[in-house]
Amino acid sequence: MIPTNVIPISDVQYSMQFGVCPICNKTDGFVNLGKEHWFICRDHETKWFVGINLFEGWQNQTVSQAQGIEAMLDKYKEIDPLRKYEEDEALRSIAI
Ligand SMILES: [Zn+2]
Repeated sequence: MIPTNVIPISDVQYSMQFGVCPICNKTDGFVNLGKEHWFICRDHETKWFVGINLFEGWQNQTVSQAQGIEAMLDKYKEIDPLRKYEEDEALRSIAI
C-alpha cells in the first residue's frame, strides 16, 4: 500500500532548514508518524527524522493511514540529510 498523504514541501526554506536527500538534493515532503515528522525521498527510499509536533495535521490521521506510513518508513533507510541551511550558517560564521 502506498500512502497518499505525503505532505509536499514546496517552501524552499523548509527543505533547506530540515534537510534534503544527500543523493539527489531534494525531498518529496514529510509524513507524520504519530507526532513524529519524517522527511522522505521516494526515489532513493531515504528518510530522516526532523522533530515532534512541528507541523499541524498529525492529529487528523486515521489509523490505517498511520499504518501505511509506518509500513513505508520501515522499508526506507534512515540517513543523515544534507542541511543546506546549516552549511550556509557555518559559512556565514566563518565569514565573520
Ligand atoms: Zn533522493
